[in-house]
Amino acid sequence: MSDTGSTGAPQVVTTAMDGDIAIITINSPPVNALGHAVREGLTLALAAAKADRAIKGIVIACAGRTFCAGADITEFGKPRKAPSLADVIVALEGIAKPVIAAVHGTTLGGGLELAMACHLRIAAPGTRLGLPEVKLGILPGAGGTQRLPRAIGPLKALERIVSGDPMTAADALADGLVHAIAEGDLTAAAIALARATVASGQLPPLLRDDERKLVSVRAERAAFDAAARDLLKRKRGQEAPAACAKAVANALDLPFDQGVAAEGEAFLHLVAGEQSRAQRHIFFAEREALKIPGVGPEMKPRRVAKAAVIGAGTMGGGIAMCFANVGIPVVLIDTTEEAVMRGRGIIEKNYRNTAARGGLSAADVDQRLGLITTASSIEAAADADLVIEAVFENMAVKQQLFAALDKIAKPGAILATNTSTLDVDVIASATKRPSDVLGMHFFSPANVMKLLEVVRAKTTAPDALATAMAVGRQINKTAVVSGVCDGFIGNRMLAKRSIEAERLILEGADLAAVDATVVEFGFPMGPYAMADLAGLDVGWRIRQARGTKAVISDALCEAGRFGQKTGRGYFLYESGGRIPKTDPDVTALIAAKAKALGLTQRDVGADEVLERMLYPMINEAARILDEGIALRPSDIDVVWVFGYGWPAWRGGPMHYADSVGLGKIAARLSDYAAQTGDASLQPAPLLARLAGEGRGFASLSAKARSM
Ligand code: NAD
Repeated sequence: MSDTGSTGAPQVVTTAMDGDIAIITINSPPVNALGHAVREGLTLALAAAKADRAIKGIVIACAGRTFCAGADITEFGKPRKAPSLADVIVALEGIAKPVIAAVHGTTLGGGLELAMACHLRIAAPGTRLGLPEVKLGILPGAGGTQRLPRAIGPLKALERIVSGDPMTAADALADGLVHAIAEGDLTAAAIALARATVASGQLPPLLRDDERKLVSVRAERAAFDAAARDLLKRKRGQEAPAACAKAVANALDLPFDQGVAAEGEAFLHLVAGEQSRAQRHIFFAEREALKIPGVGPEMKPRRVAKAAVIGAGTMGGGIAMCFANVGIPVVLIDTTEEAVMRGRGIIEKNYRNTAARGGLSAADVDQRLGLITTASSIEAAADADLVIEAVFENMAVKQQLFAALDKIAKPGAILATNTSTLDVDVIASATKRPSDVLGMHFFSPANVMKLLEVVRAKTTAPDALATAMAVGRQINKTAVVSGVCDGFIGNRMLAKRSIEAERLILEGADLAAVDATVVEFGFPMGPYAMADLAGLDVGWRIRQARGTKAVISDALCEAGRFGQKTGRGYFLYESGGRIPKTDPDVTALIAAKAKALGLTQRDVGADEVLERMLYPMINEAARILDEGIALRPSDIDVVWVFGYGWPAWRGGPMHYADSVGLGKIAARLSDYAAQTGDASLQPAPLLARLAGEGRGFASLSAKARSM
């Protein structure tokens, strides 16, 4: 059979025969997304296979690295071109011959929905199967919410669909989603299964007709509802998880076709909504962030087969784990044997805790620990392809270290600093190879937090930058390029929020109420609880070094209140706990400081609190863009979603600002500048200009893309 159509264009769906079994293969790189051409190809191939009497059974498989990994997201929000996936599935289920899905790779979203419409599913080992739609603010829209409960039971389906997390092939087999795991050639095994099913003379029931797993849960609806409530507790404010839970409940309550119809309506409602638009924006923004002007795909990253991390403290340990987690050997170095062993001990404890919770096997722990060697001299970094420095935040210490590294590191090694506040250009100048120096700014805890700011110094070579970005991907981080400035993208914006957080409580806002407003917006924590978690002393030391002040935070530190680590900060943490309690001493301290400053405290409304928590950061972001520190507005969104817990369903600060309207934000900033007497709150030139032109930040991205 030919692989090309009459136009010469490669066909995305082809049919081959093995005796009386038809093998329909989808071949649409890179991930066999179910775009229009694939849907159309499938419809034609299925119709032909149905009509051909010589065909007794059908296998649906995919070429390349994965079975269909989902819908073509670029089609969302546009008018849908028939046939839809739902149409394909109706056609598929109308075939009275055994249809076997042969799945491998990432069988996700529409891919799994297609597979679930087949009579049987066989998976390659290592396949991951799931319905991740909720992560894009939608729900599975081609029957997934009705078929998965029938396949694995409503409770498990509820958990999977609300979380969006995939399952392993082994779990899928145990739970009844797949019928076999193919050892050896997947297609051959699928053909054998099709042949055996034909020989049995019986069509296995389609999931749509199979209610066996629904029966017991129908009898215990209260338990199902409680599980749904529990799952949704952690999804405050979000529409998609609630719609997912409702759809799974429909599988219990409604006949199949009505459940599918309700799912379709919910899909259309969600896909047209603000939240899904925001989440899709973040999905594309994360990918866009990898594109760097002047660093094209032809720029080959350098090879990184071994890493070294210098400084075995809070950050160094976490960074070393990132490498071991993906199989890259890493040497962890500190000044003394004692310091490095302390660091390694914490890593070991971390891994053992994960294993105890079932997140890692004992063999994995040993394998990862085996990749982390230790040393008390930087000579051990001599054969590393990438060296990441995470020593004390002190310019003299860092410069000395980089000068020493310059003498021993192998030629071409990338020398990276994890500094949060120091000038990477100055650090680079301590070496005779400044083109190999850049920043790799991790976030604490480094083995957990997704964000990595890759800091491009003036002298950084393009291929060094490309290497850091590639390493970021390799260690499963979301990497964003930042120019050199105080605080880079994220912390520079955060600093503006911190100033406002100080002001608000001096003016009379209640600490807990401000935190609650920020949490209500969708952040995991408010500014004071977050400062208490990070440790108030960190900022205090930086301010002392710079000769700057923060009235309340300084006073708390002077009183030995460093946050959670001392059991007291902005809040009180009883007996080593993590639950913040209001402390009357702090309320009194704030009132006294306000009085000393001659301020009359007042009630501050929640709207004002929210605006002052967000708009000054947006204003700073406009300066960051104007100065070219961030390459594009969407990079700033990625930084805030992956590094600071900005709710993805609000799309990050730039996307959010556009949804509010820059005109309103500029006007409110002017008001707050007048109210506080802080001229820096006046709209930044870029913000003022865009607001004046009635434009949004997104218009800058569109322009950058067209260049
Ligand atoms: P830390 O104090 O926990 O650890 C620093 C480690 O470096 C210590 O173990 C110390 O013994 C070691 N050290 C000091 N000088 C050294 C030298 N010359 N050679 C080898 N080892 C040396 O500090 P940390 O919190 O891990 O911070 C490290 C760096 O990461 C700083 O630059 C900091 O600004 C940055 N950073 C910290 C955070 C955070 O949240 N803690 C976040 C991002 C970046």
